[in-house]
Amino acid sequence: MTSVTISKRLQTIARYCPEGARVADIGSDHALLASYLLVKGIASQVIAGELNEGPYQAALKQIHTLQERNRASVRKGNGLAVLSPGEVDVICVAGMGGQLITSILEAGASKLPGVTRLILQPNVGEELVRRWFLDHGWQLIAETILEEDGVIYEILVAERGEAVLPYEQKDRTIEELLRIGPFLWEEKSLVLQNKWRSELDKWQKVLAQLQRSEKPEAEERIKQIQAEVKWIDGVIACLRTDKQSFNT
Ligand code: SAM
Repeated sequence: MTSVTISKRLQTIARYCPEGARVADIGSDHALLASYLLVKGIASQVIAGELNEGPYQAALKQIHTLQERNRASVRKGNGLAVLSPGEVDVICVAGMGGQLITSILEAGASKLPGVTRLILQPNVGEELVRRWFLDHGWQLIAETILEEDGVIYEILVAERGEAVLPYEQKDRTIEELLRIGPFLWEEKSLVLQNKWRSELDKWQKVLAQLQRSEKPEAEERIKQIQAEVKWIDGVIACLRTDKQSFNT
């Protein structure tokens, strides 16, 4: 059996793929996720989609090394354009910004009927992805936040359903939970705390710079950032729960 080694981030994505599913990995780069899903017997079929020639060639080469290659297809094209309607059950899009991920889903809307699960890992702009789910009838069913090599990643999983459900009966507004993540808020992990600490740090630095500025327009921006810093402070205070101090 061929062995495929992938990052903790990609392994977490793989864990959300239901066994036997037909999976498309869009923006697959080296096709490592697709390879892993086949070699581990998780996916029944995989499609690795790539826009750019270099990564597309790398994906072809990688898939060629697999005994299971007859259950894989490597396709060059933009987003979901590489798929035919009804061809896959699960779509993964990882390692891109939330804006690009949602634009791929938007442009490929005609390929979504029949797709039962989306597994998305935005590098930035998680809020945009959660908002897209909410606006398009996809229910966020799970979220994971993890740290690997000093970088924090969020993985968002959605199925068709009651999009607003994960945001109900919580101690934060929908708008706030779209930013934080409703499941991540429930879990209150140390990684989530680290993420918001680093956001706080970033904004405090911007604030200090602006406070040195003599430009009149800086005043309005300072007020906005002070409000943001206050909000993040409140988030961090709530994340420092008793539950967490036992876990750490
Ligand atoms: N998904 C892999 C991962 O998470 O490790 C690779 C992430 S890599 C940073 C992003 C990949 O997406 C690149 O190989 C890039 O060429 C590809 N890409 C960017 N825009 C795309 C699009 N619209 N359609 C398909 N692939 C795209």
